[in-house]
Amino acid sequence: MSYKYNSGAKRGAGLAYSSANHRRRPARQGGHKKYIDPAKFIKAASMAAVEDYTPQHRFTDFSLDARLQTNLTAKGYEVPSPIQDQIIPAALGGKDVIGIANTGTGKTAAFALPILQRLISDRNAAAIVIAPTRELAQQIEEEFKALGKGTGLVGTLLIGGTNMGGQLRDLKRRPTIVIGTPGRIKDHLQRGSLKLGQFNLVVLDEVDRMLDMGFVQDVTEIMGNVNPVRQSMFFSATIDPKVQTLISRNSNDPFTVSLKASSASENVHQNIVKYRGNIDKLDKLHDLLLSDAVSKVLVFDETQRSVERLGNELAARGFSADAIHGGKTQGQRKRAMARFKSSDIKVLVATDVAARGIDVADITHVVNYSIPNAYDDYIHRIGRTGRAGRVGHALTFVSH
Ligand code: AMP
Repeated sequence: MSYKYNSGAKRGAGLAYSSANHRRRPARQGGHKKYIDPAKFIKAASMAAVEDYTPQHRFTDFSLDARLQTNLTAKGYEVPSPIQDQIIPAALGGKDVIGIANTGTGKTAAFALPILQRLISDRNAAAIVIAPTRELAQQIEEEFKALGKGTGLVGTLLIGGTNMGGQLRDLKRRPTIVIGTPGRIKDHLQRGSLKLGQFNLVVLDEVDRMLDMGFVQDVTEIMGNVNPVRQSMFFSATIDPKVQTLISRNSNDPFTVSLKASSASENVHQNIVKYRGNIDKLDKLHDLLLSDAVSKVLVFDETQRSVERLGNELAARGFSADAIHGGKTQGQRKRAMARFKSSDIKVLVATDVAARGIDVADITHVVNYSIPNAYDDYIHRIGRTGRAGRVGHALTFVSH
């Protein structure tokens, strides 16, 4: 039997700008910069610091359905990652969990596996996964599809920038896995096309980002609609008082797993590139991209317009480059990501928001063409490189 996953996203590419989801995003572009001492952008990678974790379990130790075990093997997951090793047993036991971890740690499977197991064994259960960006929601959906293959469970993806009609049709099939972004989920709640009363498994992914992006009210409203008797799981790269408050209000005696907050950047060589004026800046970037060591690079710039302009400029200079930002259609963003993943293009220029949660294992360099708004954003940006035990490089452009 096939995994009846039907996502609205596949039905139609969309009008990114007209989506309610997008409208609600506060402008995080420019303006609110906090000064960051450039010395914080210089640091050698210390591979020795990358934790040598010995997992306590094998996947076969977990009481997971045989189909899930088969799918894990097919995906090539041999041993649980540290977060999976610790979260999965607690979540299978029905506990609320908090994972303090970045993308790249295997957190998606850490919540997807216990959820799939529960949905297989309890046909009255239903799960909702809320993520801050469309890209992240799509990646989560892909993981659910792959891990849930052959289970017959029905899921749907509710994100902005895609055809509402397709999503409305999908919802009529009564999916028991709903993955989406806060704005679009709330839209469906308001239209009455989504009823969450039965949903007793809830995941909030990248909670810190969700709050940064101004989704606190939407998330609170969604949480008010789900089944009060539920299991909740929270994932966040950082925990500040706001995140802590949201989690405490919505959890019950949670089991917390914390991966060292800085571990994501410890295998990233960090340095600065000094420039004088815009022409010099672009020339320095050009030279950098010509270097052999730079085989796949994510370039961050500040605004949709500057990202678009830089992407075009690099393409005009003969680099295989593309750009992603909120002003592009969902289809364009998806295509650019796919080309970047498959190494069809070497350079992807992005805004912080569009690049959030990007999981491309072989990014060799992250270039901060503009200085991030806050150090926290910097850590998020550079966490896109240096994955899976590789050494990554982060270069931040600093004006003389
Ligand atoms: P995530 O943090 O969930 O975005 O996962 C990061 C990457 O690790 C994804 O490409 C996953 O496919 C991969 N991954 C997750 N768990 C495992 C595992 N146990 N073994 C190998 N790869 C994994």
